[in-house]
Amino acid sequence: MPIDPAPLRIPRDRGDDHAPQPIRRRLELCAGLAGRPLPHLGGAPVDPGEARGKIENLIGFAQVPVGIAGPLLVDTSEGPLEVVVPMATTEGALVASYSRGMRLLRVGGPVRSRVYRHGLSQHPILLYASAAEAERACLRARVDRPRYERIVAKSTRHGALVDVRTEVIGRRLLLCLTFTTGDAIGINMAAQATDAIAADLARSTGAREYFVHGQDVEKRANSRALIEGRGRSVRAEAVVSKAALAELLRTTPEEMIAIARTYQVGYAQLGTHNWLVQAANGLAAVMLACGQDVAYLTECATGLLDFDAEGEDLYASVELPSLLVGTVGGGALQGTARECLALLGCEGQGGADRFAEILAATVLAGELSLMGAFTAHEFVAAHQRLGRNRPTEEQ
Ligand code: NAP
Repeated sequence: MPIDPAPLRIPRDRGDDHAPQPIRRRLELCAGLAGRPLPHLGGAPVDPGEARGKIENLIGFAQVPVGIAGPLLVDTSEGPLEVVVPMATTEGALVASYSRGMRLLRVGGPVRSRVYRHGLSQHPILLYASAAEAERACLRARVDRPRYERIVAKSTRHGALVDVRTEVIGRRLLLCLTFTTGDAIGINMAAQATDAIAADLARSTGAREYFVHGQDVEKRANSRALIEGRGRSVRAEAVVSKAALAELLRTTPEEMIAIARTYQVGYAQLGTHNWLVQAANGLAAVMLACGQDVAYLTECATGLLDFDAEGEDLYASVELPSLLVGTVGGGALQGTARECLALLGCEGQGGADRFAEILAATVLAGELSLMGAFTAHEFVAAHQRLGRNRPTEEQ
């Protein structure tokens, strides 16, 4: 099957692709797409003052190579977008793998990606003298919800309290508070509001003690991350034609479905919350490039992969219920991170849903590419060719 050439082409040099000229040509392409120069990606130092509030005892900036995968054609909630995706990594073959998956998705028809839920949850625990007292306090938490909403409104312009639930464990009351947080991950605004709400409930119900993160889901794989979701919950899906799979991945829908089933058996035995094959790879690389707090990968890489037959083609989807990412706040608007977000058209205000939808589409591309490499038994050869870095004796 003839593959349509992508309208947006990433310059490559078959001789030496790491020579200054192809790097410069790619950077020029990126600057054109971002609509502005990208000096820091080109090597200009970042003003150390930009790191204020983000680090202590600063000595400099870590350097991780950034490559671009793509182009990725993605149907987002704002309409179709064509982007190249910045990835910071030292894993050879990773950018090539994601690029291959993105090419497959372009041929199969654009991947559809949607944020379907917003909500950063916090889970303080209050301690009472007895289970009976803890149960009574649950009622108080429900009645006082309007007051809690006012507490939140006083501490943030962009955060809002959208859900209050309670659970009792013995004489402990688990308060589940959920916030929307605008374009930020919002953990600081949510933690501040949670502390104030938990203190308010503790006061009004005579709790012996309260703990702001009693059930701490933060930055650890956990069952809430998979079942309830946290941050932005995103889903990406595509139908990939049998012909495209044969031409680009040298595999078939049947082989892809069979390998996915085999992995699911393995994952079931592992008891993992990450039912995706290489989501952590793509997420880590894009998050690192875009100034995200990569410790959230523990939650972000939670999710499900589904391969199914669609006629003679392959239906593929990824479910990422707990994407904790933001386009303001934290390190998002600093140096190369800001430039990478600009390259994706996601810099700053109003960019977070778009960013999350691009991330989910990127994850789906990586899943398809890696599963294809496994079924065609090309995985080891690709890494030997692109990703071996044997140090010399001196190193
Ligand atoms: P933040 O930088 O603490 O807060 C975001 C700020 O941006 C707020 O002041 C907010 O104003 C403002 N803002 C402007 N436009 C906004 C928009 N469109 N949407 C949302 N906010 C907007 O960011 P954060 O996401 O809450 O916190 C992330 C940082 O916290 C990361 O550096 C992370 O490493 C760190 N962190 C903190 C904890 C913790 O528990 N404290 C835990 C893990 C990580 P308003 O406040 O007026 O809304």
